Amino acid sequence: MKDQGLDTQKIRNDFPMSKVEVNGKPLVYFDSAATNQKPQVVIDRLIELYTRQYGKTEENHTFSKLMTSWYEETRSKAAKFLGAKAPEEIIFTKGSTDGINIIANGFAKAVLKQGDEIVISMLEHHSNIIPWQLACQLTGAKLLVAPIKDNSELDMDAFESLLNDKTRIISLAHSSNVLGTILPVKLICETAHQRGIPVLIDGAQAAPHMPVSVQDIGCDFYVFSAHKMGGPAGIGVLYGKAEWLNKLPPQQGGEGMASKVAFEESTYSPPPKKFEAGTPPFEEIVAFGTLLDYIQEMDFPKTAAYEQELLAYATAKLDEIDEILIYGRSPEKEPLVSFSLRNRDVKQLEKFLNEEYNIAVRAGLLSAQPLMEHLGVDALLRVAFCYFNTHDEIDLLITAIKQFLQQ
Ligand code: PMP
Repeated sequence: MKDQGLDTQKIRNDFPMSKVEVNGKPLVYFDSAATNQKPQVVIDRLIELYTRQYGKTEENHTFSKLMTSWYEETRSKAAKFLGAKAPEEIIFTKGSTDGINIIANGFAKAVLKQGDEIVISMLEHHSNIIPWQLACQLTGAKLLVAPIKDNSELDMDAFESLLNDKTRIISLAHSSNVLGTILPVKLICETAHQRGIPVLIDGAQAAPHMPVSVQDIGCDFYVFSAHKMGGPAGIGVLYGKAEWLNKLPPQQGGEGMASKVAFEESTYSPPPKKFEAGTPPFEEIVAFGTLLDYIQEMDFPKTAAYEQELLAYATAKLDEIDEILIYGRSPEKEPLVSFSLRNRDVKQLEKFLNEEYNIAVRAGLLSAQPLMEHLGVDALLRVAFCYFNTHDEIDLLITAIKQFLQQ
């Protein structure tokens, strides 16, 4: 099976979960926007670290030194993956949510004052809403929401009209986990920077599917989660421009983040260490480095093009079914499609697909309740594509949906 020059069968062999069956039916995994399956190389790396190479970072014995060097190597790989200027601009976090909270808390402590404004958008995930609400509660700042247009794109005119000399930060998704919309992040950063406003980009959905260059985008902060790309859960990356990381205070104190500790006052290490208090999940981070190698070797632009092909194929097939109403029609779109049913409950369809076909999708609020209210729906069913999916799996999904609708 060859698509876009990719050997999808070979790729599937790299993912052991693609061979797992339930009731004799192979798993059809269309939920990579929630979390992604792990390639064997990542699993092997973790096993190797635990069985033959284990030692805590920052100590002096053999395996500690090795672990420290792999840990820092992963930082360099992540810097390269994101097109950052230097590894020091990469902070390891617990994930996208953690990264956004670190910046929102930092701004609450060091930047925001009563009456200041923060701008987000209508299509944000809860993880890019609540941290800013908490920052507003602490400081008296105000949260403003930029609307979207009927075709699911950000309304740029309305967005620009929200910016003024009280705006302290803009925090937007690179792409929507519900509608798939890819935002014009470079243009957004140019517009913001003309007014001296920093921008955080939530790349939880974009980083797994497209090459990202933070220098080209020009953002001040960028976050993503390793588990959505096939890495271990509970780790992620926060990129921050050096000048901001120097300026913002740490959010946690403890081992590893101070250069001098005294009872009166401690002095913090320079970034990134300043933001990495305590023992990090170093094994997972090193295994994430292995994942970054795997993705690069596979040829990221090629896998991205293949995922777009799957999206177009599935969208055309779903559009042929009268009962289906697709939400999210932006021309630049993530490889995911969300829909409601005119007369049936998508939660029932989700259950049917799982129980009868071992097809994994997600239906519900998709952690974007304000967006769902704006769209006027209680739930959407999301089908998310990854480079290991096939056209045959999409055909099976369509057959299954049609069978459900005939019941
Ligand atoms: N932002 C977006 C757009 C997401 O899709 C998600 C995950 N669903 C997050 C943030 C939060 O990611 P995590 O739970 O890995 O921190």
